[in-house]
Amino acid sequence: MTIAHVLGFPRIGAQRELKFAVESFWRGDIGETELAAVGSTLRRRHWQWQKDAGLDLVSTGDFAWYDQMLNTAALLGALPARFGFDPKALTLKQYFELARGNAAQPALEMTKWFDTNYHYLVPELDAETRFDGGVDWFFYELAEARSQGHNVKPALIGPLTFLYLAKSKAAGFDKLGLAGRIVPAYRRILEKLAAQGVEWVQIDEPILALELDAQWRNAFAPIYREFSTAGVKLLLATYFDSVAEHAPLLASLPVAGLHVDLVRAPQQLDALLAAWPQDKVLSAGVIDGRNIWAADLSAKIEQLSAAKTQLGNKLWVSASSSLLHTPVDLAQEDQLDAELKGWLAFAKQKLDEVVVVQRALNEGRGTVAAQLAVSDAAAQSRRTSARIHNPAVGGRVAALTGADAKRAHAYPVRADAQRAWLKLPLLPTTSIGSFPQTREIRAARAAFKRGELPQDQYIAAMQAEIKLVVAKQDELGLDVPVHGEAERNDMVEYFGEQLAGFTFTRFGWVQSYGSRCVKPPVIFGDVSRPTPMTVEWSRYAQSLTSKPMKGMLTGPVTILQWSFVRDDQPREQTCLQIALAIRDEVVDLEQAGIKVIQIDEPAFREGLPLKRAAWDAYLEWAGRAFRVSASGVVDSTQIHTHMCYSEFNDILPAIAAMDADVITIETSRSDMELLEAFGTFAYPNEIGPGVYDIHSPRVPPVNEMLRLIAKALEVVPAERLWINPDCGLKTRGWPETEAALSNMLQATREARSAI
Ligand code: GLN
Ligand code: ZN
Repeated sequence: MTIAHVLGFPRIGAQRELKFAVESFWRGDIGETELAAVGSTLRRRHWQWQKDAGLDLVSTGDFAWYDQMLNTAALLGALPARFGFDPKALTLKQYFELARGNAAQPALEMTKWFDTNYHYLVPELDAETRFDGGVDWFFYELAEARSQGHNVKPALIGPLTFLYLAKSKAAGFDKLGLAGRIVPAYRRILEKLAAQGVEWVQIDEPILALELDAQWRNAFAPIYREFSTAGVKLLLATYFDSVAEHAPLLASLPVAGLHVDLVRAPQQLDALLAAWPQDKVLSAGVIDGRNIWAADLSAKIEQLSAAKTQLGNKLWVSASSSLLHTPVDLAQEDQLDAELKGWLAFAKQKLDEVVVVQRALNEGRGTVAAQLAVSDAAAQSRRTSARIHNPAVGGRVAALTGADAKRAHAYPVRADAQRAWLKLPLLPTTSIGSFPQTREIRAARAAFKRGELPQDQYIAAMQAEIKLVVAKQDELGLDVPVHGEAERNDMVEYFGEQLAGFTFTRFGWVQSYGSRCVKPPVIFGDVSRPTPMTVEWSRYAQSLTSKPMKGMLTGPVTILQWSFVRDDQPREQTCLQIALAIRDEVVDLEQAGIKVIQIDEPAFREGLPLKRAAWDAYLEWAGRAFRVSASGVVDSTQIHTHMCYSEFNDILPAIAAMDADVITIETSRSDMELLEAFGTFAYPNEIGPGVYDIHSPRVPPVNEMLRLIAKALEVVPAERLWINPDCGLKTRGWPETEAALSNMLQATREARSAI
């Protein structure tokens, strides 16, 4: 029979129980026993859900107190020596110190898990790294699931993915050189699983979806040959993109099965089937593990029918990736109407979807006729609903011309027009937008949202805040002030709430890192802007000062990137719709006399596809969307954009093609190193490299900023250099904000007089 399974389930809990328990533990409010009990309850519940849904195997190894890569390091015993911990006796407290740092040591570095918004802790390797075994939590959880009567498939992050994603301080360190040590460690784990009677082990090697160089590709066969006699059946799991380019390798690897992502890369099924060995399982990930849409189940069954005929019981059904990237349970959403809810599926609902596809394949569609009828109806209503399809929006996107994605004149002409009225001093100063969000601001916003604070009082409270922020900036002497963004809880949610085509969930939380979760907006339909979103705040702010007020918007790519995006049209299309909505706002701001406008795009780089071969196409449409949002204004209106910490090197042509008049970037923590590429590339427009780190309350002294300004001046001519902090100041307090900005302005004055 075709087996139904998933690669992993979210661990945070439908009510974010794990987050709250872990944070209580950190505060010392609960002890280890209580924390352990919460973890155990969650695991038990999630396994039971998998069993109740009808999955043949339940997943273990997907639970982590903080992160799955750190868990793998803890299992292998490969901890950075700098902490001085005994890997075999690692305590929970020490585990959290690795994740969060302690008085003596900074935490492990954190970075994005492929192209998801999940962040893993980066293992540290050096020539001394050993994999002699660590804590046995992995085996404890396996035993726990089995004692509850489950048929278990434990999951491990594979050795090559572990090494590939790890880092070493030593330049040119050969991570693969550690294979000789890590392979026996994995083999011991597999043998131990075999000894315990485990039949299937899932081993995740998502790096197979990247463009691997030969050295890494060639490492698979010998390593997996080592594992093939360990006594367990291995299901090699890949996800997030196609692995078809490795089809011959994958068909010949001595593993019992392969899992592939048929949501991100449906086309790879045919390529793999063309030469699939009869004795090997192919696990088809057809239910989307990255998004919140209910699957069109009939289409999924159809998608697999040829594979079922060819492979019979060797075809398995699953979700595309671990369900870690989806919220837990849609049943809790009591504020969505039935139609919208019918379009959605969270992790728990996706378990049912996997099983419906499996049963249809095993026993015929008739056995799941009722479920298919519901799914067909939802798919049909998504195709036709007037809530989703707004012909006016589609028409506007279709009518976009080349001129709509281009400013009237090139930057040098615009710069003259802008200089003529802005009359800014050399090295103009500005900020990135937000100012400290005090407890009072948050309280007022929350009370307004709950309906407890009348609108006029809310507006008065926000205006008072704007007044204060503008006065402070005038006092400090900032050349281009902002209104401070007090009315925004989040730079995407604020716009999503005002745009048609968006909705919000109550409990749609997804783990971002550790105990940190995000609740992305849901873009379900054509996006349009019913009314101006920021104009009144900016107009009010401008009325308080004679300086040019900068209007603040979030860009189309970032709004797209930080939302759950509809899957019934290309992302590019959705992005252009958002771009048009932002364009309308930009034009309205200009009409209202706001002629410096910043369109933030911190997630621009994040959207890059996993495979480099697909980069150009993405950069092309993402850049176009930005320009559509920015190009409705006259030459003299100055468009800024902002990006946070990013590797810009390899995408500078695309950044330049965005053609913002001014770009501000985060550079202080890299000691201006990130800026060097802009110099080498001869970036043509204006740049504001951040001169101080806003992530810490530390107030950098004047000479420190002066040194960074001097470094920047080596790369960017003074006429095109702006002075600003690295990013928004909303997480900072007022005292350090004032002190740091005051130092920044002093440094600027000194730099000006030295030019
Ligand atoms: N304008 C935003 C702010 O200042 C930018 C935030 C960001 O770059 N992430 O808060
Ligand atoms: Zn930023």
